[in-house]
Amino acid sequence: MPAAASQAPQAPQAESGARAAHRAVLVIAATDSSAGAGITRDIETLTELATPARCAVTAVTVQTDAQLRAIHVLPAELVRAQIGAALEGGGVGAIKIGMLGSAATVQAVVDSLPSRESVPIVLDPVLAATSGGELLDRAGTALLLQLLIPRVTLLTPNLPEAAALLAEPEAQTGAARLAQLHALLGRGPSAVLLKGGHVVDRVDTQAVEDLLLMAGGTVLHLQTARIPAQRRGTGCSASSAIAAHLASGRSLPEACAAAQAYVADALRRQAAAELPRPGLA
Ligand code: PLP
Repeated sequence: MPAAASQAPQAPQAESGARAAHRAVLVIAATDSSAGAGITRDIETLTELATPARCAVTAVTVQTDAQLRAIHVLPAELVRAQIGAALEGGGVGAIKIGMLGSAATVQAVVDSLPSRESVPIVLDPVLAATSGGELLDRAGTALLLQLLIPRVTLLTPNLPEAAALLAEPEAQTGAARLAQLHALLGRGPSAVLLKGGHVVDRVDTQAVEDLLLMAGGTVLHLQTARIPAQRRGTGCSASSAIAAHLASGRSLPEACAAAQAYVADALRRQAAAELPRPGLA
């Protein structure tokens, strides 16, 4: 296998406005055999948003919607080589990072990333599956905090992920959410989007409120109706949609709002598909 570890990360080349609309998103993430989450969900999202995808696979997981059965983390060298090849020749307008699976993979990604000044980097801190299985161990999480989070443009935790990253209990009040939002920004990303989809039966079950905080900025409250549908991989979809909108030149608040609308629409489509069709028994 050709070694890419020694090659310096390639910064995307400057492009004309016409080409900017077609800039790709590089997805660095893992497979999920059930396709509920992971790289299939990422690429589905990018395709629906007419955004070309490139990919670097970090791990292969064996999953159903109810169970995480196995994880095979790919060699760090292979992850480095994929990222290097995906960035070669330019044309990448944003990077989305999902499940990494091990500390060695976190290190490989850190070594291979261009700077966030040259390309926006969105990190979905994937720590566990909804079914409960662990997707990144303690050593990996520690390295994520130490080396990767300070390198990214946007960190997109949900409430359980925010709590786990800060080694605190999950926020139960609006004040606690704001405190965790600020604490995570203090760990070095340029911005944090704290997603509110997991706030159920506590604050306001009619709406979802995501909080966006950029360095030196005020907190933006992004709200949408709560859609009663069961769907895995909403975190994957949200971070990929944000990356797609950043790649097409939108600002961070615009990209986060558009991604929230995309996820709400996907949930609406899912809810409609789950309803019994009129006239059918
Ligand atoms: N599996 C993989 C490979 C993922 O990347 C993710 C999230 O990004 C998950 C599982 C978790 O998704 P869910 O919470 O829907 O189980």
